[in-house]
Amino acid sequence: MFRKYVLLAFVSLAYIFSDNLYRQVRVRKQMFELDVIDVGQGDAILITSNKGRRVLVDGGDGYDLDAYINKVTPVPFCRIDFIIMTHTHADHWEGLDRIMKRCDVRVFTFNDVASDSATYLKFVQNIPENKKLKLYSDSKIKVDNIIITILWPDIAVLKTQELSSDANFLSTVALVSYRDFDILLTGDAPAGVLDKIWAEKESMLQNDKVDVFKVPHHGSITGLSEKFLTNLSPTYCVISVGEGNSYGLPDEDVLSFLAEIKCEVYRTDSDGNIEFKAK
Ligand SMILES: [Zn+2]
Repeated sequence: MFRKYVLLAFVSLAYIFSDNLYRQVRVRKQMFELDVIDVGQGDAILITSNKGRRVLVDGGDGYDLDAYINKVTPVPFCRIDFIIMTHTHADHWEGLDRIMKRCDVRVFTFNDVASDSATYLKFVQNIPENKKLKLYSDSKIKVDNIIITILWPDIAVLKTQELSSDANFLSTVALVSYRDFDILLTGDAPAGVLDKIWAEKESMLQNDKVDVFKVPHHGSITGLSEKFLTNLSPTYCVISVGEGNSYGLPDEDVLSFLAEIKCEVYRTDSDGNIEFKAK
């Protein structure tokens, strides 16, 4: 349980402090941070260790991430220790292109799925080979006191994938653990993937008791597994979604179910940047 560690879980106006003051406060208190960044219709999540190391998961598709990162770690000191790209859809990787170009990114991790998108392939090909790290189910990354365990996709699934495979099905799903604070990141994974994960990793997920659940696929009904969510029973549910998006997301049925299981919902379209801190 993380409740005793979490100091604040608040939204939107998290940056009412000046950036300088904010950085000073962070350094002095050495807090772990999870920032779900408002990048419109897309995903971008920044994880910062209590020693200041950064893991960026996805990047949205515009310049919103760039502007945000420039406040946290401005050029020429911009440094990101790990990037995890969940899958090949533009609303998850395009914003990472600028970060790769202008920041010191130490490791770029992905699951190397096939794609027929010329822009995506160019992006990946431009990343130096010595920075690339392929991740599959059961891979682990340790960043200071943070352990990130990849839960999906299995390497066997990737080996048999077809070019026409649904990229969402191959979304990286990761459990991020900082002391007793556990976060499940799901990319755009569909419900069937969550069910497979529960079948294979039930004991791990029950032991760790997920505190924050990143609702898959921007709150689409495709990511709703009632069985999985009932079992997981997360305290907070975060939806990264664009205001007034043309897809009608998040889906009303998803919101109703989250209310039913009493998960406290935060949304980037209405709440802006969402920030959790733990010490
Ligand atoms: Zn998406």
